This record gives sequence, structure tokens and C-alpha cells, in this order.
Amino acid sequence: MRKKIVAGNWKCNTTVQEGVELAKSVNELVAKSGVKNVVVVLGTPFTHLTSIVAVVDIKLVGVAAQNCAAEAKGAFTGEVSASMVKSTGAEYVILGHSERREYYGETSETLNKKVALALSNNLTPIYCCGEALAIREANEQNAYVKTQLEETVFNLSPEDFSKLAIAYEPIWAIGTGVTASTAQAQEMLAYIRGLISNKFGKAIAEETSILYGGSCNAKNAPELFAQADIDGGLIGGASLKAEDFLGIITAY
Ligand code: PEP
Repeated sequence: MRKKIVAGNWKCNTTVQEGVELAKSVNELVAKSGVKNVVVVLGTPFTHLTSIVAVVDIKLVGVAAQNCAAEAKGAFTGEVSASMVKSTGAEYVILGHSERREYYGETSETLNKKVALALSNNLTPIYCCGEALAIREANEQNAYVKTQLEETVFNLSPEDFSKLAIAYEPIWAIGTGVTASTAQAQEMLAYIRGLISNKFGKAIAEETSILYGGSCNAKNAPELFAQADIDGGLIGGASLKAEDFLGIITAY
């Protein structure tokens, strides 16, 4: 059965000290709640990874970077490679977030390199896709997301593809307080699962965890997570408070 995943994306928030406290609180709440059916992941800034891996029970709370370099190593000032991320003890990396595509010019070409490096370093990519408002308003979201996948992760071998999780995040719902309706989210995730099935076969499609992201919170999570194709969430704002995040984790 495919995994349910609730992954926080802290973005550029918290100092190391604040992040460690937040991670400890999440770990404690998850432990107390006895939740066993959900993989919990914290997507923290690079600077926090080692310290956070040290304070969480990695069996209860996994740790993710929010990006990695498109090169393995070398003269790339300011970059953090996939092997560096792996050496912190983190097991996941969020790749292709719309903020990275939009503000840092990430292209499909760059993302192909990042995904390959993440996989070769045994990191699990949480690969993001999703359309902007104008594309949704033109009702072209399916074709747009299909192209995003075809240009990147659909180039992988079936074996490598089956190591990823996918996160569909409509840009118009990220940080805006506007959640995609349950029907819109389910419809897109079912569509993505269908694309995966056409490309890699039904068995891989059924095993791929596909997450929804965009203003997901403890209130709307139960209805979203009750949908057949929604295997969890990628959570921005609501992952910055341990209690709010737990409310989402326990929404299943
Ligand atoms: C995100 O940026 O991945 C996200 C889903 O943000 P928010 O939950 O704040 O909309």
C-alpha cells in the first residue's frame, strides 16, 4: 500500500535554535499521538539539517532539504550538494518547488540533474509540480502539469521513478489561504496517477505517493486526505507551529 506522507516545508523561516525547538515539539507530539500510518517529514533550511536530525527520532520524523545543487561538487559557490544533504542524515529532498522555479529560474533541465543526483545519493525526492492562476483560469492545468512531468521525472527508469513522491501544488493556492477545492485537488491527483499509469504501468502508479500542497491546514486536511488519490500533503505555513502541523498529521 502506498505511503501517506505529511511533509512540512519551512521555507526560509526559523533560526537553527528555533528550528531545533520546533522539530523537538513535532517529534514529541507525533510520539505522544501514536500516529503510525503517516510518514512525517520536516523540510528545513540546509543550516538546520544536522542539528535537527540529531534531536528527532528519525523513525518517527524524517528530515528533508528544500533543494540541492544541480552539480555533484566543485566550484559552485553557495551551493549545497545532494551528497552533503545526505551526509547530514536527512533522507528526503524537496525539488522543483514553484518558488524555486519562479524566483531562482529552475528549469526542467536543472531539475533533471537535481533529481538524478538526489537519487544517486539515496535521497527521496519530493518532486513538486503545479500551475499558476492564469493557466488554471484558461483551464490548461492538465496539459501544463503533464509537460512538467514529461520533461523531468518521466525521463527516469521505472525503478528510479518508483522512489519518488510527487507533490501537486497549484501556485495560486500556495501561501494565499485559497485552497484548491477537494474536487479540484482529487481530480488533478487522479489525473497525475493516470499519467503515471500510462507511462510506467498501473502497479507503479498505485504505489506512488501523490501529495497535495497549497494552504492545507488542520481544518481542511481531513476532507482533502479522505480523497482516493490524495496521499498526504506538502505543508508550508501550517508546518511552522507544531500543534497545527500535528492537526494535519492526524487528519487521516
Ligand atoms: C508550500 O509552499 O509548499 C505550501 C504548500 O505552502 P502553504 O501551505 O503555506 O500554502
